[in-house]
Amino acid sequence: MERGHIFNPNYVLVTSPSLLFDPTVKPLDGMVEGSVLFVNSSKDVPIVDSKKIRVIYRDVTDLALKHVGKDILSATMGAVACKLSGLIGLQSLVDSVSEELEELGLEPELIEKNIQLAKECYSSVESISLCGLEYRPLHNVVEVRYMGERGIPDLLSMGNTALRKTGSWRVLKPLIDRNLCTACGICYIYCPESCISLDEQGYPLINYDSCKGCLVCAVECPMKAIKAERESVWS
Ligand code: SF4
Ligand code: SF4
Repeated sequence: MERGHIFNPNYVLVTSPSLLFDPTVKPLDGMVEGSVLFVNSSKDVPIVDSKKIRVIYRDVTDLALKHVGKDILSATMGAVACKLSGLIGLQSLVDSVSEELEELGLEPELIEKNIQLAKECYSSVESISLCGLEYRPLHNVVEVRYMGERGIPDLLSMGNTALRKTGSWRVLKPLIDRNLCTACGICYIYCPESCISLDEQGYPLINYDSCKGCLVCAVECPMKAIKAERESVWS
């Protein structure tokens, strides 16, 4: 029920293995011996950590693409967390997914696809009991206060700079088909990361060091000239 920093997590779920190597994220910091790390990846990634944490790899992005056709990971990771912790049963998970998506006004067919996705994610891992782990008092959890238009404090912290290679977060990679592109420049305008530039002829060029793969450009392109393919580095 807390939304804030958790300094000594017993379960850590990492949506992309690239985050394991991001020095400003440090997802393994604070994990105690015996705690569980889940990594959304089909491949084992070398974890440089002397502590005896338990590491599980599963490609839940693949499951999301299979069931709903999008790399939406919150429900998938939520389902994994429910099962890993052993605290939330399958029916409770299904009821919650159904209730939340109904509230959002999704079509019954799409809700059903999300339920099937949650079920497959749930069954893709085993529960891991953390009995006997060191107890950490609640004061290790701190509240992050919303500061209105100023956002939250972390937005100003070190690491949120132009030098940061946010391209490593990408799950889907936008690819521009020059044969279809009319150099209208709409993708250049809409890219929320300003990582599309225009060449001398006005054709767009994507800076993959910064592109997060949000695919706003693909949605806005009137010529459907931008296709997405699964990023090969981490899949
Ligand atoms: S995928 Fe998103 S971040 Fe990448 S170029 Fe397109 S709009 Fe920009
Ligand atoms: S929006 Fe599409 S057609 Fe226009 S410049 Fe970008 S890729 Fe080309």
